[in-house]
Amino acid sequence: MSTHDEQGAWMERYVMPNYGRYQVWPVRGAGTQVWDRDGKQYLDFAGGVAVCPLGHCHPNIVEAITRQASTLIHVSNWYCIDKQAELARVLVEDVVGIPGKCFFCNSGAEANEGIIKLARKYGQQTGGRFEIITFSGSFHGRTFGAMTATAQEKIHGGFGPLVPGFVYVPFNDVEALKKAVNKNTVAILLEPIQGESGVNPATSEFLRAAADLCKKNDMLLLLDEVQCGFGRAGEMSGWRAIIPGDEIKPDAISWAKAIGSGYPLGAFWVRDREISDSKSQISNLANLLGPGTHGTTYGGSPLACAVGLATIGTILDQKLCANSRDIGAWIADQARAWNSPVIKTIRQFGLFIGFELDEARLQSNESVKASGRPASIHVARLLLDAGLMTVPAGPAVVRWLPPLNITQADAAEALRIMKTVLENLK
Ligand code: PLP
Repeated sequence: MSTHDEQGAWMERYVMPNYGRYQVWPVRGAGTQVWDRDGKQYLDFAGGVAVCPLGHCHPNIVEAITRQASTLIHVSNWYCIDKQAELARVLVEDVVGIPGKCFFCNSGAEANEGIIKLARKYGQQTGGRFEIITFSGSFHGRTFGAMTATAQEKIHGGFGPLVPGFVYVPFNDVEALKKAVNKNTVAILLEPIQGESGVNPATSEFLRAAADLCKKNDMLLLLDEVQCGFGRAGEMSGWRAIIPGDEIKPDAISWAKAIGSGYPLGAFWVRDREISDSKSQISNLANLLGPGTHGTTYGGSPLACAVGLATIGTILDQKLCANSRDIGAWIADQARAWNSPVIKTIRQFGLFIGFELDEARLQSNESVKASGRPASIHVARLLLDAGLMTVPAGPAVVRWLPPLNITQADAAEALRIMKTVLENLK
């Protein structure tokens, strides 16, 4: 066993410094609670950044991992995998509800790489189009394609040249989106609710305009649901929190985070629909990535898919989308009633909640000024010290991403901590 001093020294010496980590060492979790190595207890409303929809070490997840780990952990995608078939059926029928097919991978960035490749292939097949439109404030991951798709200078810095063929447009600007479409455009990729930039929803007008443009110009509508999917925004599919029902029909959806309850699992879904190439040959979009076009060693292993099945099964069986909507709305009502001068707005979709702070006002507060940090980062730090884990998003937003099965008592405790911290900041 190593000592705390050794762990600290090794972390500094052997682990790359690409995260500005809190000096907190969580070692155990149960439900909404996490304990650090000194025994301090935290209420976890960060959830591994939207990764733990059932909280920590949920019995259904522990049971699924244990059972599958003692049956078959991994087998190559050269073979047929029972749990993969079962999970794909659940995703197509119970999550999306629109005929399609799935590919399994290990992370959100990889899922986005897959749908970017799908768009490139579709473009090649239909006359050589290749441009993909993405949006300011987006976040799609850290691999080259996903990083380039992310329309944020701070993510690109120092890594050029980036992948060609991405065009950036201001989020929620319908006119700018219309203007950006040209003869080379093959797809529009967007998060129905942007997470990393502060729980920013697409307006229904914008989402509808994007879908209409895709239909009219034979382009693909790609939705990144890595953060907003699986009940986070109160619906199994995040876009339905913006436009309910089947009015919007995406062509592809990427997922990760919550789907694996913390076990690495990503996936993407592609719509089952007829397409025709430039020589009028008819085929199917869901079969476009045929043999040899795409692959992965680990993706869709029996163990990963068993966890995915247990996660989604539990969310559906326990009606956690409804809990997400009800408790999320209750939290927002309670917090709005504070009329706190340091909260500008609260954006809430299920348990995807962004508290936008008054950054300008807070920058004149002594403790925020002294920290030299954006208000969101300083406030998240104060909340952590007070026992509440949250996630900053951009300079002004503190994000809550608690488990979808929280009780009103958990929510009340988090609200109590946040209210006290913000009152001390006025
Ligand atoms: N897409 C969205 C919307 C995300 O929020 C994230 C991660 O925060 C990603 C993609 C990248 O996922 P991963 O870190 O699993 O590659």
